[in-house]
Amino acid sequence: MNSPTDYRIAVLAGDGIGPEVMRVALQVLDAVGRKFSRHFDHQAYPAGAQHFVDSGHALPESTLDACRASHAILFGAMGLPHVRGHDGTEIIPQLDIRFALDLYAGVRPIKTFAGLPIPLSNPLASEIDLVLVRENTEGLFYSRGRGVIEGDEAAYDTMKITRHGTERICDFALKLAQDRKALGGQGRVTSVDKANVFASMAFWRKIFEERAARYPEISTDSAYVDAMALNLVLKPWQYDVLVTENMFGDILSDLIASLVGGMGMAPSGDIGDDYALFQPAHGTAPDITGKGIANPTAMILSVAMMLQWLATRHDDAVLHAAAQCIESAVSRSFQEGGIRPFEFGGASGTQAIADAVIARL
Ligand code: ATP
Repeated sequence: MNSPTDYRIAVLAGDGIGPEVMRVALQVLDAVGRKFSRHFDHQAYPAGAQHFVDSGHALPESTLDACRASHAILFGAMGLPHVRGHDGTEIIPQLDIRFALDLYAGVRPIKTFAGLPIPLSNPLASEIDLVLVRENTEGLFYSRGRGVIEGDEAAYDTMKITRHGTERICDFALKLAQDRKALGGQGRVTSVDKANVFASMAFWRKIFEERAARYPEISTDSAYVDAMALNLVLKPWQYDVLVTENMFGDILSDLIASLVGGMGMAPSGDIGDDYALFQPAHGTAPDITGKGIANPTAMILSVAMMLQWLATRHDDAVLHAAAQCIESAVSRSFQEGGIRPFEFGGASGTQAIADAVIARL
């Protein structure tokens, strides 16, 4: 197969700091494209809470069609606290995209960067290198839009765990651990559940153990989510790949982002069998919007994740090199460039961080 040299990228910048971090991440993408002789035709499409206010649609069908017609999707952040649907919940089309394109694997890698302060004082914290794999299409989030309210007295949300959904997310995590092991990783997957309390979670654990048996070279174990919250603060460097249901994954994503200093450092991919979307793990951060101080690192590292995914999908080794080039430039910016984001108490703004990365590509 000949690899393409031109890639169509659908860009959904969204609300709040989404457009701010996206603008500079696209500068990085263009710069790396020039360096590696690849062309990224990135086109912006409307979606988000502000678009909902303007047009009555949070995620137009034409935007979804453009996503389907592109090689990959870059996503900023969506949602504004004052824009709410009739049931009081926020307008968050990122959840709709996950369901519409069946982006079942939420992949959240976390690594410490030399040169930046980290909240944990244990020196082993400099070795944190783990990936959280969050099931994206069922779990407790299945209940979104389906919650039942009985009068003004009670409300119910239902957790859905299926064999199909659990098998494919466990396989995704186990294969990811295989890939990481090939590059020197631990080769370990820890499933996170609450199997001591809920039938749905006992079912999850049973299926995880069934799938794990098919990967004898990967060491596997299960942990309760409450114990995992403790251990992710006490000894996060012990973990390699974590896999968990949707709601636990949502919560633990923020926890692991904090381990490396803040939301602005945590990239993510929402990956399915046919499509993939890459976005920073943070939200729209209304408190800092428009100030030029948002840390774009998570968005820039999400661009690198996109290039890795495209490289594998299209057998384009050049894109592997391009992704590594971005990751290395980000690392060196912090280690040797005197770059310190506002989030870390520094004075490097959104554009300054992107400029430092581009200078080191
Ligand atoms: P969501 O519900 O979409 O996750 P949220 O408001 O709960 O949104 P964030 O928008 O991620 O969460 O913001 C959480 C905190 O992290 C805020 O104080 C915000 O300013 C900060 N933050 C988030 N992203 C960044 C960033 N890229 N750079 C600097 N600070 C950030």
